[in-house]
Amino acid sequence: MLIDFIINFCILFTFAILIYIPFQNRLNVYIPSTRYNPIIVGILSGLTGCLLMLTSINISDLVILDGRMAVIALSGVLGGPLAPILSGTIIGVFRIFMYGYSTSALIAGSTTIIAGLVIGIWSWKKRMTFQNVSSYFGYSIVQTSIVLGILGNWKLEGWLAIISFILYSILSFSIIFVVLKQLNNLFEKIKQIEEISVTDYLTGLNNNRKFQEYTQNLLSKNEVFSLLLLDIDFFKKVNDTYGHPVGDEVLKELALRIKDTSKPFRGIVSRNGGEEFSVLLSDTTDEKSLEIANLIRQAIEKKHFQISSGEKLQITISGGISTFPQNAVTFHELYKLADEALYLAKTSGRNKVVHIKQNKKT
Ligand code: GH3
Ligand code: MG
Ligand code: MG
Repeated sequence: MLIDFIINFCILFTFAILIYIPFQNRLNVYIPSTRYNPIIVGILSGLTGCLLMLTSINISDLVILDGRMAVIALSGVLGGPLAPILSGTIIGVFRIFMYGYSTSALIAGSTTIIAGLVIGIWSWKKRMTFQNVSSYFGYSIVQTSIVLGILGNWKLEGWLAIISFILYSILSFSIIFVVLKQLNNLFEKIKQIEEISVTDYLTGLNNNRKFQEYTQNLLSKNEVFSLLLLDIDFFKKVNDTYGHPVGDEVLKELALRIKDTSKPFRGIVSRNGGEEFSVLLSDTTDEKSLEIANLIRQAIEKKHFQISSGEKLQITISGGISTFPQNAVTFHELYKLADEALYLAKTSGRNKVVHIKQNKKT
């Protein structure tokens, strides 16, 4: 009998992991659309439940031990409200017919279907998470135990069947719950670390690494785009006069303004390092990019920067632009040309934007 429990639990465990991992978008598993996740999770969980029943431990006519309630509850966390309804129905229908139709089978199957339905409808009102899934699972166990209790024969044997059902369900649920929750925490942490690794800590903009990734993506599309490099004018003076923390305040406000102004043009804004920023403008020609760059420049120039001491600072920026494929077709060359244009803007008076317009086709 112990070996039967182990086999049943192993199936439950394996399928829980197999259903969980692909939906973390970590594997190269093709999932057509997240819209279908509830259906896919529901069906897979339903099939897992059926498999569990095929390897279940038959305690009495009414009670067969398997981890189906754990599967139904957890499917709600992974797939949303529709998943427990679907899995509950599949498992319930299978329970009714698996050993041939009988009244006990009908009652046991219907109890499973109802548990799935209630969990689904309940989680429609209150989203299921790893934090609250225990309540949903607890409900399904109480509901099933009451039905078994009412229909049971009130003899020791009947009580033992119910107690074994409760114990096995709780044990299997708890182990899988802990493992999935740990996995989930791990994936959450990985997501956070990935986010941090491509974000500038001070401004929250993309960092240089993400900037390079975006540029390579644009290059691979082989469609026109412009690269705008921006640099604060005489920023060193701000630091020297007001201190580094005030310089940081200016950088944050500047980032916000560049972002807000670029938004209507779907510009990808990054802080490439220090006081240097960039905006990638997809589907933007040289003339349009100059227009946008001047809008950004004006957004910085026209309004004073208020610092925490209450003082108002006048900040200006200079910019250099290059356009793909008009000026260059490689990342290195595009960047170099935009930087050259920036240098021209700096040396010709600052607070201006220059486009490298030489028709350098590589
Ligand atoms: P230019 O108009 O030629 O660009 O002059 P500039 O003073 O802006 O240029 P320079 O390259 O001489 O100085 C850049 C300054 O940016 C120096 C550095 O202290 C400051 N800086 C770089 N990163 C940060 C940062 O994260 N925070 C602060 N507060 N300052 C920074
Ligand atoms: Mg600089
Ligand atoms: Mg500067």
